[in-house]
Amino acid sequence: MRIGIIGAGMTGLTAAYHLSKAGHEVIIYEHAPFIGGHASTFTVQGTLLERGYHHLFTSDIDIQDLVEDLGIPDVLEWIPSSVGIYAKGSIYSLNSPIDLLKLTPLNLFNRLRLGFVLKYLQTQKDWMKYDHITAVEWLKSKLGNQAYQMLWEPLLLAKFGSTLYEKVPMAWIWGKLNTRVKSRKSGASGELLGYPNGSFETILDKLTKHLNQNKVAINLDTPVTKITQAEDSITVEVNNDSHNFDKVLSTVSNDVLLALAPQLQDSPLYTEQLNQVSYLSAVVEILVLSEPISNVYWLNIADSAFPFLGIIEHTNLIPPEKYNGKHIAYITNYVSTDHPIFNMDEKELLETYIPFVKLINPEFQTSWIQESFHFKIGRAQPVMGINYSQNVPSHESPITNLYVANTAQIYPEDRGTNYSVRMGKDVALQMMRS
Ligand SMILES: Cc1cc2nc3c(=O)[nH]c(=O)nc-3n(C[C@H](O)[C@H](O)[C@H](O)COP(=O)(O)OP(=O)(O)OC[C@H]3O[C@@H](n4cnc5c(N)ncnc54)[C@H](O)[C@@H]3O)c2cc1C
Repeated sequence: MRIGIIGAGMTGLTAAYHLSKAGHEVIIYEHAPFIGGHASTFTVQGTLLERGYHHLFTSDIDIQDLVEDLGIPDVLEWIPSSVGIYAKGSIYSLNSPIDLLKLTPLNLFNRLRLGFVLKYLQTQKDWMKYDHITAVEWLKSKLGNQAYQMLWEPLLLAKFGSTLYEKVPMAWIWGKLNTRVKSRKSGASGELLGYPNGSFETILDKLTKHLNQNKVAINLDTPVTKITQAEDSITVEVNNDSHNFDKVLSTVSNDVLLALAPQLQDSPLYTEQLNQVSYLSAVVEILVLSEPISNVYWLNIADSAFPFLGIIEHTNLIPPEKYNGKHIAYITNYVSTDHPIFNMDEKELLETYIPFVKLINPEFQTSWIQESFHFKIGRAQPVMGINYSQNVPSHESPITNLYVANTAQIYPEDRGTNYSVRMGKDVALQMMRS
């Protein structure tokens, strides 16, 4: 078969890998001048780094299988990590059940209750029972108002914004908690997180080498502008040229797909399924610092007054020596494109953020900032409502021979490279079967 793939992110590249390995002719079109999509990298201090902070959980088995298949099984390093929460003016560790007992902004009863509820959630295998109830409703009823308002409401608000946070199903929280729990070392506190030696680019690069060997054409800087069903084939328009394929795989977000393939509107149910997902963009400010901000890798902010939702100090996971001894911190936000944070330039963003960084570490000095980078990552987080399990769009679209595989089809797990790898393989197998 001659197969066209739209998007050279993890999903598109993995699908291309399996399709080309099976002997099919594959051509990839990528809008950006680089591969990797949301997991793409750039150079900092002479070393590659993701535009958006990235790590893996030990439960991410599909990407581990892929790196083995690619012949780089030892590329992943597993490193003890640390999670914390900033609440009521202090940082609290959240690495073990004992840490929950030290979360003194909550009264003792609510700390114990929080511990029991989290433990209970982690033992639940049947996530479907959390599909029909919102996280807000479930958490409020099980944790009571104090823990909900102090911990979860600011976290949900920060992650999904005031217009979407009440929509998020409890199944999403279940998915998040369960991936983290599976990454905990048995009997020990803290979790092991994985990071590829040399960044995620090492995996992308090896994938590309295999694709080159299999004669896959990867066209960068080449946005697809239209997808149409022709008589016996499917047509993709690129640079005002039409290219015919036996099958096409789209890995772009739902809204982009609907714009590219207006014929999908002929199927109201599929269109409705695509339209039900909202997207938030990630606004990521990367600071290259002479000193660390804290000693925590992943710091959640549970304070609604803060203009950002977390600080991920990459060099509290990967040693600063890899970056010329510099400390790298991502200050992160998920917002809609009409949010003031999305529309600020880097100078305004830093002016807004720095007073709050100083609240976390009063010794923080602007002079610590050696370099900074500002990225806006579009459609970074799909947001689904309740009962989504019954409304996930199928990979096979109503347009014959057009297949769809994107981050909005990953559920109840949160989107992640592991699931893109899993989905890329699954959809490739489906395309070869039908
Ligand atoms: C801030 C952030 C942090 C994250 N952290 C982690 C993490 O810690 N661990 C983890 O595993 N995952 C993480 N993820 C998620 C992970 O990066 C994504 O789930 C995964 O990379 C998605 O891959 P994809 O191929 O499905 O989509 P994408 O990466 O979005 O790829 C789609 C591609 O399609 C291209 N495209 C769009 N329109 C067109 C067009 N018209 N024509 C041609 N091409 C087009 C895009 O440029 C893009 O390259 C994070 C994501 C973000 C944004």
